[in-house]
This record gives sequence, C-alpha cells and structure tokens, in this order.
Amino acid sequence: MPKKPPCPFIAEADQLRAAKEAIEGFAALWIGRLNLSHWSDITQKFHTGLCPETADCAARTFSDWKYKYATIEFYLGVMVNMEPQEQELVVVHELLHVVLNEMHGASDANLSEDDRAHEERVVTELTQAFLRIARG
Ligand SMILES: [Zn+2]
Repeated sequence: MPKKPPCPFIAEADQLRAAKEAIEGFAALWIGRLNLSHWSDITQKFHTGLCPETADCAARTFSDWKYKYATIEFYLGVMVNMEPQEQELVVVHELLHVVLNEMHGASDANLSEDDRAHEERVVTELTQAFLRIARG
C-alpha cells in the first residue's frame, strides 16, 4: 500500500517554524558578535508572505541609530528555501545595515541612490569577510 503523502500545510508550517528558529539563532549569535547587544531594541519580524518591494527579497532592515532601534523583517517564503549558511548570510547582512545606519546622517531622506548602492556593496563585502573569519 503506498504511503500517504504528508499534509502539505503541516509540512509547510513545520518548515516555516524551522526557518524562523534558525534565523532567530543566527540573529542572537551575530547581535553579540557584531557588538549590537547595547542597542535598545532590535526587533525581528517574520512574514510568511513575500516582501512588498521585490518577490525575491529575503529581508529588509529599518534602523534609527539615534535611538538605537532597528526592525528587521524576514520573509520566510523566501528564506525557507535557503540552506542554513545562506540564512546566516542574510542575517549578518541585515545586521551590518544596522551597524552602518549611522552613516546615513540625520535622516534616511538624505541618502541618494548612489549612497544606497555604496552601502549595499560595503555591507556585502563586510558580510563575506565576517563569515569567512567566523567559519575559518
Ligand atoms: Zn542590503
């Protein structure tokens, strides 16, 4: 007798929960490693849907360096399909946006597209460097 396939909704919920737990673990680890523990609040929000900006966006960060508040939104619909090393990379990348937030000056409104592109490159390079050092 063929085995009945598992309910896709239960499997999906399990996969989303596992991805959320992995991301929370990476965030706790890297908040400490990146010396962000002294921030007032770094909130992690988890969405099961896709990012409203682009469908392949895994996460995005909103920070205010003046008050040391940040919110990182993780899109589990994208991150659930990633290997743990990729999930960790996304977490480190977003936390480095928090680290660099003070470079925005008094307001994000002052940032040009060129500034944003440079920040993305710096964050990407630092992410690779930190992960290379951490992974040996
Ligand atoms: Zn980025």
